[in-house]
Amino acid sequence: MAECLFCEIAAGRIPAAVLRETDRAVAFRDISPQAPTHFLVIPRRHIVSLADVAEGAEGELEPLLGHLLRVAAEVARAEGLQDFRLVSNVGASAGQSVFHLHLHVLGGRPLEWPPG
Ligand code: 5GP
Ligand code: ZN
Repeated sequence: MAECLFCEIAAGRIPAAVLRETDRAVAFRDISPQAPTHFLVIPRRHIVSLADVAEGAEGELEPLLGHLLRVAAEVARAEGLQDFRLVSNVGASAGQSVFHLHLHVLGGRPLEWPPG
């Protein structure tokens, strides 16, 4: 997966503003923030999207997904966010542009609902 941007960031070969690293996940600031605070949480393991989690016998991913949510919540708190939005775009027509699973965490301004 040498050509996967987020695999490269997870491996430290492409720099990013890293907020938290664990054995299984990395949180780093989005390069094009859509809110005063906007960071991404990714698994170190290459998974294309949440759709991949639904395919096949991937029950072993459940602990990893829980870990990603915990990292998201802990980093949000560390960033001083009480209110925030957590989003994962699945597929190009839903806005996915990097095909390595990531959770967006956005906060620091009012967020409209439904999203555009
Ligand atoms: P998606 O559109 O796939 O849901 O989200 C991908 C996100 O990755 C976008 O918000 C985009 O700004 C961010 N992004 C793309 N390239 C880079 C990069 O090289 N570094 C960082 N930190 N974020 C990136
Ligand atoms: Zn990857």
